[in-house]
Amino acid sequence: VLEIRNLHKSYGALEVLKGVNITAPAGHVVSMIGSSGSGKSTLLRCANLLEDSQQGDVIFCGEPVIWKGQGAHRHPGDRRQTIRIRTNLSMVFQQFNLWAHMTILENVMEAPVTVLKRNRAEVEAAARAYLDKVGIGDKADAYPAQLSGGQQQRAAIARALAMEPKALLFDEPTSALDPELEQEVVRVIKALAEEGRTMVIVTHDMRLAADVSDHVVFLHKGVIEEEGPPEAVFGNPQSERLRGFLGAGR
Ligand code: ATP
Ligand code: MG
Repeated sequence: VLEIRNLHKSYGALEVLKGVNITAPAGHVVSMIGSSGSGKSTLLRCANLLEDSQQGDVIFCGEPVIWKGQGAHRHPGDRRQTIRIRTNLSMVFQQFNLWAHMTILENVMEAPVTVLKRNRAEVEAAARAYLDKVGIGDKADAYPAQLSGGQQQRAAIARALAMEPKALLFDEPTSALDPELEQEVVRVIKALAEEGRTMVIVTHDMRLAADVSDHVVFLHKGVIEEEGPPEAVFGNPQSERLRGFLGAGR
């Protein structure tokens, strides 16, 4: 579904991604781990075209992004394609970014109604079903501030699902949560993995990465230092840096 080839991204003189390759085939879960500043969030943002990149390709559902310009001036060149990719590649952020002035139900319905122009009644029925699925059907009429962090993050996941995306991107979905609230979000992500959703998950939660991933990527200073199935990456890490990274977290 999602393929990133030789991606390079710089902020001015700072090269953050130095030729990264990632493939997330349909139904697969790819986790990305690595220390702070290694470029994980940048990579997700480049994947759904929230950021420009200077070199390399993003291919979504077999469709290569059409670029315009070169180097520092390169950007996605086809607006319709950009919208198509963003709506089909929903992102869940560390900070849930719910609209404070809208109820949870309205938050989930907003994009399908305004962006996809779908029928309100159908969207509402689907939105309620997604809220049930993440276990907060009873919070539909509450406002974000009335929910716990874990419930807000589950609402944000329901909102992403409501777009019926072809793949989901998660950027540290549990790291803003207290440990006891983390687990309720982890359970939802595991259920999504089990139903065969295509996902790329940036996480500091090695347990989650080990449990749900088909493939784990260890990013270090904008380069993939090591990658493989979770059993290999966690059970038999080869590079000194990955061993150091995993050791530090224990
Ligand atoms: P963390 O685990 O802390 O979230 P990360 O791996 O997600 O880290 P990124 O947020 O991708 O790291 O940042 C990678 C590098 O790019 C960092 O050095 C950061 O300071 C830099 N960076 C990120 N966004 C910008 C920006 N908008 N302008 C300039 N530099 C940026
Ligand atoms: Mg980040």
